[in-house]
Formats: sequence, structure tokens, C-alpha cells
Amino acid sequence: MRSPDHPTALPKSQYAARLLDWYDCHYRHLAWRAPPGAPAAAPYRVWLSEIMLQQTAVVTVGPYFTKFLDAWPTVDALAAAEMDAVLTAWVGLGYYARARNLHRCAQIVAAELGGKFPNTETELQKLPGIGPYTAAAIAAIAFGQTATVVDGNVERVMARLFAVTEPLPKAKSILRELAQALTPIKRAGDYAQAVMDLGATVCRPRGPLCGDCPVADACAARRLGDIDTYPRRAAKKAKPTRRGTMFWLRRADGRTLLRRRPDKGLLASMIEVPSTPWVDVEKQSDGTNSDWRKYVPAACEWRRLEGQVHHTFTHFHLVLDLMVADTAVDAKAVIENVAGEIWADPHDLSGLALPTVMKKVVRLALAEDRS
Ligand code: SF4
Repeated sequence: MRSPDHPTALPKSQYAARLLDWYDCHYRHLAWRAPPGAPAAAPYRVWLSEIMLQQTAVVTVGPYFTKFLDAWPTVDALAAAEMDAVLTAWVGLGYYARARNLHRCAQIVAAELGGKFPNTETELQKLPGIGPYTAAAIAAIAFGQTATVVDGNVERVMARLFAVTEPLPKAKSILRELAQALTPIKRAGDYAQAVMDLGATVCRPRGPLCGDCPVADACAARRLGDIDTYPRRAAKKAKPTRRGTMFWLRRADGRTLLRRRPDKGLLASMIEVPSTPWVDVEKQSDGTNSDWRKYVPAACEWRRLEGQVHHTFTHFHLVLDLMVADTAVDAKAVIENVAGEIWADPHDLSGLALPTVMKKVVRLALAEDRS
């Protein structure tokens, strides 16, 4: 909760005025942005960048944003694209549900809304992949609506400015209220970007540059001398570890067996190397995925490779073993456990939507080929 000893130190309007003045001089030059005071960026650009930024750092998003705009300069062009082309272009950004929702959203905007994004938070949230945060960002940045945008940067700035002692995630509603109270009616889009930029470049998670901060004299955490303890966070639960066994089946013509994942759930519709289910180590009787034989794609001589693939998703760590086998060119006849099989040249997978974890598997398998 907000410390009673450190109430708002400035009138609301002064926070906004100072932040906007600071933003006019120090804003980040990002490909999807319009400079302060200029006409707003096109809603398509704002939407595309905000979807990409949902779980990904600004520095990573830059080249992807440019690549998408080059390939699909308008929402109509993106709507007309093949889903696989969008997924393939998205590879490396992770959280692939975003790419599927991006495509569905583009199709709805193109087919049902005349190619125009709605301009209110309520209408925007009816579209796939647009939650409260993204709706507020698009409404404020693309349409100048008075909407409060609260991301991790904004939460950190609010927690420090007002020395909010309630830990995250419980503090989210308090931090949102504080952010709302400071949001101005005019220049709401610039203001939203100003607070985010302040959090990203000055009020950084570690080593904040308080000497450069336009509201330093109104900052409760600074006055208290314990900036680094904000925002407070509840202890995180340790991520479980799952384990699986991948099957690298090589055909005599050099092609390798891949398959498409189901169209729902983790990495939906992406391409993968066939595998056992990925099961929590604690639920495996000996923690080694020893029943892998039930899931082999073909009855062959399977051999376990040295080395493992390690990958971390949002909710779990993953450890993958890799089994290798060789088979004849007419292997199709013996394939089991594999729906949607694909025989691909493992040295040329660029046209396939292979997620990062599968690229690691391929690298391990090809390293074995070379050894
Ligand atoms: S004074 Fe320092 S801690 Fe406070 S808001 Fe500014 S940068 Fe953040």
C-alpha cells in the first residue's frame, strides 16, 4: 500500500508536465513510433509493435518489426498471408500464440472492419490477442485516447515514486490506480510512452539514474534511500523441470522426420521433431523418461546421443534426450505415433516454423552427423 508518510509530492498535473517535457528531449527513437508532438503512428504499426513487445525486449523486436512491415506493409496484406509464413517469420520471438492471434486479428480487421482498427479500449479488447494492456497502448498511442498503459516499466516507476510496499503481483491494482491518477487528458499517447521510456532508460531495474529523473524530487523511494527494494515482489515458486525424448529418424535420402504440433496448447501448429510427451521429472518413476519406446515413430535400431537439449519456457524448464535411427526411403509405411508427418532436408529448414527449442534439437542432431 502507499506509505502514509509519503503522499503524492506534486500536484498530478506536474508529474505529467515534467514527464512530457523530459520525453520531448529524451524519447527513444523506435521504428514504430512517431516523434513527440507529430501525428500519431498508424494503428497497424502500433498494434504490430505492441503485440511483439508483449513478452519481448525492445532490442529484439526491432528487426522483426521491420521484417514484418517489409513483408506485409498493411493489415490487409498480413490478413492475406499464409499462417505458416507468419509463424516462420515469427520464429525466435517465442510465445507463438501471439503470431496465431496476430494473423486471426488481421483477418478480422481486414474482413469485418474494413481494414480499420477500432479506436476504443473496449472494442480493441474484442479482437484476438489484444488484452487490457495492449488495448490501452493502442488507444492511447494510435488514437490519443486517455488510456492508462501499465507495463513492467510503469509498475516499477509507480512503485518507487510512491514507495508502494505491497508486493507484486498483489500490488498491480494499486500501481494501476496510481498510474491512472497521473494520466493527463491531453497527449495521453506521448505520456504513456514517456513513463515507459523513463522506466526503461532512467528508472532502470538496477542502477536507476536518479540524477537524470525529471520527478526525482517527488520520489518517495529515493527519499527513503531504499530504491532497490521497489517494486517489492512475492517469492516466486521454483519452475518444475520436464523431461522428454526426441526421435531423430534419418531416411536413406538424407531427409528427416518432422511433424506438426496440435493446433492448441504450447507451440501450437509449429513444426517439431517427434518425441515422447514432456513430463514433469517428479512424475516419472525414475526421472529418466524410461518408457520412451512406447512413442518411437518407427521400429528401428534407436541409439541415444551424447548431450542433451536444455530450454526454459515461462512455466517450466525442459531437458530433452535425443535418440537417432536410420531407415529406408519408403519409411512412410512404418511410421507410427506421428500425425502430419513431414520429411525435410535438415540442412534447409528455413521455410518451416521451427521454434527455438526445436532448432536446438536439430543442432544437436546435426553435430552428431558431423562427428
Ligand atoms: S528518482 Fe530514481 S527511483 Fe525515483 S522515479 Fe526517478 S529514477 Fe526512479
